[in-house]
Amino acid sequence: MTRRRWIAEHWDEATATIVGAQAEHMARVLRAEAGMEADVVAGGHVFHAEVAAVSTSEVRFNLIAEVQADPALPVTLVMAVYKFDHMEWAIEKATELGVAAVAPVIARRTEKHLALAAMKRVERWRRIAHEAAQQSRRSDVPLISDPIALADRIRAASASTRIVLAEQERTTTLRHAVNEAMTAAQAQMPTLEIAIGPVGGWTPEEEALFDANGWIAVSLGPRILRAETAAIAALAVVASHLE
Ligand code: SAM
Repeated sequence: MTRRRWIAEHWDEATATIVGAQAEHMARVLRAEAGMEADVVAGGHVFHAEVAAVSTSEVRFNLIAEVQADPALPVTLVMAVYKFDHMEWAIEKATELGVAAVAPVIARRTEKHLALAAMKRVERWRRIAHEAAQQSRRSDVPLISDPIALADRIRAASASTRIVLAEQERTTTLRHAVNEAMTAAQAQMPTLEIAIGPVGGWTPEEEALFDANGWIAVSLGPRILRAETAAIAALAVVASHLE
């Protein structure tokens, strides 16, 4: 039987601790008790562990042995902030699909009230990523950074290959760009940033800024996808090449 997997908030070389709502759920709902076995994620590593002590505020585990972890996809999704419920669904699905990080950005066509509210929403986005990582038995939680202006992110990007999803692009496909990145990275695993626009898409000025900073415009096909669909499709294409 597959052991349940928990992501610890605190750890050292011999123990790991879960606190807050997770601990309360384990104590009250799952009636966890000393000796119960589980997989515990601590610092990006996965351990076979055993419950040492349980309370409704804290569950402490003894770490028994490290087990094989599954690395995240080396992909950062640069997501233009858009309708929060759809964006949160995209963060959950991207987490399940193995994204390493999500960088929310304020694009020109991000609705003003969403741009203003985004900073207050980030903790919720981080909780969604944490829960989705746990549910999908990941060995890490994607990093959700604070929202910043698109132009700052375009200029700051450090990944080996920077890709902007552009629905009007007709020649370069994402598959082609990923193949190129793998060739350029040779034996290494390439790192990718993939930018997804808001409802309304990128402005011509934003497209020019991507281009001037070495981002590759790619197509996901002839149909116009919702941003959340584009996120899932892009990660599936990348995973089919890198995993
Ligand atoms: N014209 C659409 C609109 O007015 O809403 C464009 C926005 S689309 C909903 C959101 C984003 O998904 C786009 O900015 C682009 O990044 C990505 N996207 C959607 N369809 C795509 C496609 N066929 N190829 C590449 N990217 C696509």
